Amino acid sequence: MTHNTLYIPRPVPHDPDSLGHFPRRADGSVGFGGRYVPETLMPVLEQLRLDYEAVRFDEDFWREVDYYYKHYVGRPSALYFAKNLSKETGAKIYLKREDLNHTGAHKINHCIAQAVLAKRLGKKKIIAETGAGQHGVATATVAALFGLECEVFMGAKDVARQELNVFRMKLLGAKVHAVESGSKTLKDAMNDAIRHWVTNARDTYYLIGTVAGPHPYPMMVRDIQSIIGWEAKQQLMQVEGRLPDTVLACIGGGSNALGLFSHFIGEEGVECIGIEAGGEGLDCKHGCSLEKGTPGVLHGQLSYLLQDEDGQVQEAHSISAGLDYPGIGPEHSYLKESGKATYDHITDDEAIDGFVWLSRAEGIIPAFESSHAVAYLKKMSPDALQNKIILINLSGRGDKDMMQAQKILKERL
Ligand SMILES: *Cc1c(COP(=O)(O)O)cnc(C)c1O
Repeated sequence: MTHNTLYIPRPVPHDPDSLGHFPRRADGSVGFGGRYVPETLMPVLEQLRLDYEAVRFDEDFWREVDYYYKHYVGRPSALYFAKNLSKETGAKIYLKREDLNHTGAHKINHCIAQAVLAKRLGKKKIIAETGAGQHGVATATVAALFGLECEVFMGAKDVARQELNVFRMKLLGAKVHAVESGSKTLKDAMNDAIRHWVTNARDTYYLIGTVAGPHPYPMMVRDIQSIIGWEAKQQLMQVEGRLPDTVLACIGGGSNALGLFSHFIGEEGVECIGIEAGGEGLDCKHGCSLEKGTPGVLHGQLSYLLQDEDGQVQEAHSISAGLDYPGIGPEHSYLKESGKATYDHITDDEAIDGFVWLSRAEGIIPAFESSHAVAYLKKMSPDALQNKIILINLSGRGDKDMMQAQKILKERL
C-alpha cells in the first residue's frame, strides 16, 4: 500500500517547455505559463529551474521529503468514505483528508518539499508572500523545522485584518513585513518579495505558495502536490477496485486541485471538475478567473485573470481568503482550453451551506475553501450522482474560519 512505497513525480504529457510554456493554444499562439519577469530575475529563475530539474526525479531527494511527510505531516492522509453524504446523495463519496495534515491543509506539502530543496541548495533564508496568512504560517512552520531564517511579506491591510496569523508567524520565529505600497494587499506583497529576492538570491529561497508565478514554480508545486492524487488513486483502487467517475477540488491558485487531478487527467471515464469562488455571484464580486476572466499576465505568468478592458487587474472576492485571487495557475488555463478538465463555481452562500452540511452529516468541519468542493455535490444532477464514485479533495480544516463562521451563522444555528 501507499505507506511502503515512495512518491516520485512523473513527467506529464503536457509539461511546459524550458521557458515554462504549456502547449500552444488552439489558435497557435504561445502557451500559458512562461516567465514574464524583469530581466534581473531571469538568471535567478533559470538557476532554480536547473536546480529543480536536478532533483525532480531523484530518489534520494524524495526519500528525504518522504521522511518528513510520514513523521511530521502525517502522510499518507486518509481517504474517508463519507457514508452519510453518500446515503443522502445516492453516490459513493470519498474525501481525501488533507485537513488532517499538520497545520491543517495541503499547503504544508509544498512547503516541506521546497524547504528540503532550499536546504540542499545551501540557502540560509526563506521568504514568502502571503495574503490571508495561511501560506505565511505554513512557510514559517517549515522554516522553524529546518532552522532557516524566515521573512514573510504581507500587505499592511492584510496584517491588520489577520492579526492571529501574524501572531502565529511571529510565534514560529518569522519576521513579518507589512507592505505599505499600492493597495497594501497580496499583489503588493508579492512585488516586494520579488524585489527582495532579486538582491538576495544567493542565500535566499523564494517559497511560492501555489501553482502560480513564473516557471518553474507552477510545474514544481504541481509535481509536489501530486502526491495527493497518487495516494488517493491507490487508496480508492484498494477499496473500490476502480477509478472514480468524478474528481472535485476547489481552486484559488489551483494547487490542491492540480495535486488531486494530476493522476486522473487522461484516464478514461474520469471527469475532473475545478470549483472556483462564485463569491456574491458572477454579476457581482467573485473569484472566477477561468469562467469570467481573459488571458493576461500577472505575477510572471500568462494565464486567465480578472481584468478590465484596459488590462487593469480587478480585485477578486470570496468568503474564503484562500480562493480570493484574481489569477489562476497557468496549467488550469491550459486544461480548460484543451477540455482536459472542466470548471464551475460555487457562491459564498452555497459554500456556507456546504460547510454546515459536512459538519453535521459527517462531524467534519471543513475550511471555507474546501466547502466549495463539498457544496458542488448539491449542484450536480441526480444522473451525475446515482451510483457514481465521487472523490473530493478536502483541502483543509475549518478551525481558521471559526470567527467568520460564527458571525455569519449566529442567527441561523
Ligand atoms: C490556500 C488554500 C486553498 C487554495 O489554494 P490552492 O492553491 O488553490 O489549492 C484551498 N484550500 C485551503 C484549505 C487553503 O488553505
